[in-house]
Amino acid sequence: MINFNVPTYTSKTFEYIRDVFNVVHASGDGKYTKLCHQWFREKLPCREALLVHSGTAALEMAALLAELNPGDEVIMPSYTFCSTANAFVLQGAVPVFVDIRPDTLNIDETKIEAAITDKTRAICCVHYAGVACEMDTILDIAKRHNLLVIEDAAQAFDSYYKGKHLGTIGDMGCFSFHETKNIMSGEGGLFVTNRAELGERAEIVREKGTNRSKFFRGQVDKYTWVDKGSSYLPSDVIGAYLYSVLEISDKIQDKRKYIWNKYFEAFADLEKQGKIRRPIIPAYATNNAHMFYLLFNDLEMRTKFINYLKENEIYAPFHYIPLHSSPAGREYCRVNGELPVTDRISTTLVRLPLYFDMTEEELHKVISVALSFFGK
Ligand SMILES: *Cc1c(COP(=O)(O)O)cnc(C)c1O
Repeated sequence: MINFNVPTYTSKTFEYIRDVFNVVHASGDGKYTKLCHQWFREKLPCREALLVHSGTAALEMAALLAELNPGDEVIMPSYTFCSTANAFVLQGAVPVFVDIRPDTLNIDETKIEAAITDKTRAICCVHYAGVACEMDTILDIAKRHNLLVIEDAAQAFDSYYKGKHLGTIGDMGCFSFHETKNIMSGEGGLFVTNRAELGERAEIVREKGTNRSKFFRGQVDKYTWVDKGSSYLPSDVIGAYLYSVLEISDKIQDKRKYIWNKYFEAFADLEKQGKIRRPIIPAYATNNAHMFYLLFNDLEMRTKFINYLKENEIYAPFHYIPLHSSPAGREYCRVNGELPVTDRISTTLVRLPLYFDMTEEELHKVISVALSFFGK
C-alpha cells in the first residue's frame, strides 16, 4: 500500500526530545521552541514568529488580534480547509466567500472588491498548494478600504511572492506543521507578524492573556492577566521534534521538488491530449512542492481514477468540500456572487502521494499505475 503521506522524523528527533528532559523544561517556550523562533525569524525573515500547537491555533490568534465585532465580515475563498473560516466564526464574524482563480485555485483578487461592505474588516487569503496569491492587488485593495490582510500560509513554507516569503507579506501569517505539510511536528503551527504592536499582543494572547513572556525576559517583575487570550503554545517536546525537522528542511525541499517535477513531466502528454490539467505556477510565485494535483474534466473520471489507484494499492485523496456547501458554512457564512470555479475544482481535483521518504520504486509505481489508467 502506498500511503498519501508518511510523517518525517530524523536521526536527531529522539535525541532532541530526550534532551528536553535533561534541560528540565518540557512546557512551552523551552530551549527548542526558542531555537525554532530564532530559526524562523532569520529564515522568513519576520519580526515576530511564535510556535503554536496548530495552524488552526495560529488562525485563531490572528482572528482574535483582528479585534472583530459580531457581524464583521472577512473575505476569503470557499475552497479551503474549514479552519480558515472557523477561526473567524469563533469571534462572531461572518466569512464571506468569493470564487477562486482557475489557474492557481487561489482567491480571485478581481472578485474581492465587489464583496466589500461597510462591515468588511479583513481579507484572509489562502496560498493554495503553497503557490502565492496575487498579493500586490490584495494589499492595494486592503489599503484603499482599510482592511487587515491575514495570510493562511498553512501550505506555504519555503514559498515566495516576488522574493518575499509567504505569510510575512500581510499583517499576520499562519503556518501549519501538521504531518501532511512540508515541515512537520505531528501537530504544530506558527504565527508570524511584522507589525510591532500585533507582535506584542500576540505574545500575550498566546499565553492565556498574560504578560508571562515579558516576565521570563525580566521586563516586568511579576506576571498577570492583562488581555483576552488562550493557551496556544506547544510543549517543548513538539519544539524539539520540529527543530530536528527544520535542520533538514533543505533536503526535504529538494526531495519534494524532485518528486513534484517527476510527476509534472510524467503527465505532460496527457495534458496535451486534454485529459487532465497539471498545476500552474505564475511568474510572480514559486513552487514549494507542497502538493501535486491533477485536474480531471469531470467527477466521473476522477472517481474512476481514484478507485483504479485504490485497486492498485495507492491512496490518492481529493479535497475540499467547498465551505459554502458544508453544513456549518451554510449556517455561519455568506457567499458573494457565484462560485463556479470552486464548485468545479472541488469535484475534479485529485492529489497524488508526496512525502520526503517516498522511494524511487514508490514514485515509479504511482506514475506507471496512473498512466496505465489512461491506457498507456
Ligand atoms: C492544514 C491547513 C490548515 C490547518 O492546519 P492544522 O495545523 O491542521 O490546524 C489551515 N488551512 C489550510 C489551508 C491548511 O492546509
